[in-house]
Amino acid sequence: MSKATDLIHSIPVDPLTGAISVPIYQTSTFVQEAPGENKGYDYARSNNPTRAVLEDIAAKLEHGAAGFAFASGLAAIDAVVKLLQSGDEILAVDDIYGGAFRLFTHIYQKFGIKINYVDTTDAVNVADAITPNTKLVWLETPTNPTLKISDIKAIAKIAHLHNALLCVDNTFASPALQQPILLGADIIVHSATKYLGGHSDLIAGLVITATKDLGDKIKFIQNASGAILAPHDSWLVIRGIETLHLRVKQHSSNALAIAEYLLTHPAVDAVYYPGLPTHKNYKIAQQQQSSGGGVVTFTLKNDTEQAAKNVVCNTRLFKLAESLGGVKSLLCHPATMTHKSIPAVTRQAAGVSDSLIRLSVGLEDVEDLIEDIEQALDYATLDSISRQANDAQFAAV
Ligand SMILES: *Cc1c(COP(=O)(O)O)cnc(C)c1O
Repeated sequence: MSKATDLIHSIPVDPLTGAISVPIYQTSTFVQEAPGENKGYDYARSNNPTRAVLEDIAAKLEHGAAGFAFASGLAAIDAVVKLLQSGDEILAVDDIYGGAFRLFTHIYQKFGIKINYVDTTDAVNVADAITPNTKLVWLETPTNPTLKISDIKAIAKIAHLHNALLCVDNTFASPALQQPILLGADIIVHSATKYLGGHSDLIAGLVITATKDLGDKIKFIQNASGAILAPHDSWLVIRGIETLHLRVKQHSSNALAIAEYLLTHPAVDAVYYPGLPTHKNYKIAQQQQSSGGGVVTFTLKNDTEQAAKNVVCNTRLFKLAESLGGVKSLLCHPATMTHKSIPAVTRQAAGVSDSLIRLSVGLEDVEDLIEDIEQALDYATLDSISRQANDAQFAAV
């Protein structure tokens, strides 16, 4: 049976009523027959039947032993860090998601957890930087926004040799393209806000563990800290997951066509997309991802903030917004949006140049998307006098 068929049919029909859609159990508590005697549910922070369905299919989707749903991707990441104690070290990918950087550095460092960042695109750097205190290796692959790829299998081996856990933030690839547990990861986190939810209508996070033992520890943290996903939002993620394979296939093929188009445009300098043979880590991407995914990043020959702004403010279908993974195409300018708080020198060293633009390619017809980008790029490359004339002409219409 295909993965998509299997997934769709592993979402259970309601055993009480036959409802084909998972019921939303909007309740705080569950009536007990006698003290401690219940139907497997006692209080909805600990367990909720709607959330339980999501947690089960998340585990199945990622080939894990257990899954857990949280109020956001960051709450999921937070739960994983709580496996550690003071004195432990995290070894993390250097261009990590900004929110994870903020959590590690500004919250957990003050509780005595040390963080080291390395370029994980070369697994040797991980082997060199790992110490006896490293308890957690943290990967994102592809990374945001330059879509660097790290070798999950090689890094899992290094982590395990040193008795450290490997956690992979699988948000960008999604389980439709990449299954890190099958490559040796111990834990997977997701911002389900992105491809799993898939419709830009909620904030949610997931943790999936490879073993039941690790799952029991995350379950304890989830209940003890309480950052659970609400029943209605759990239902929305379930509904998103039903179409995950179909959506990601289309996001990916649209993104590849756009990346190939961008390579041909004279105003474009570099194009970053793991599905292009020109990508620096193409070989590993080919091995561990089934396609390139829905995010494409590029820079302009005129490498200035203004040139990028002329593009991102003049698309019609691509909407200017943070986030990714939804049905509607989005674009953003990391230097002044998602990466604004990072000092310019550090940001540029990480490859986030002033003109870098990130596209979250949606599910519109790809011809329309390419036309939209083309007109914005053409407009942005006009000299300022022609641009004013162009603006005046539009204003007159
Ligand atoms: C968005 C994102 C997060 C954070 O998730 P939230 O749902 O916004 O809390 C974590 N990792 C990656 C790679 C993301 O893109």
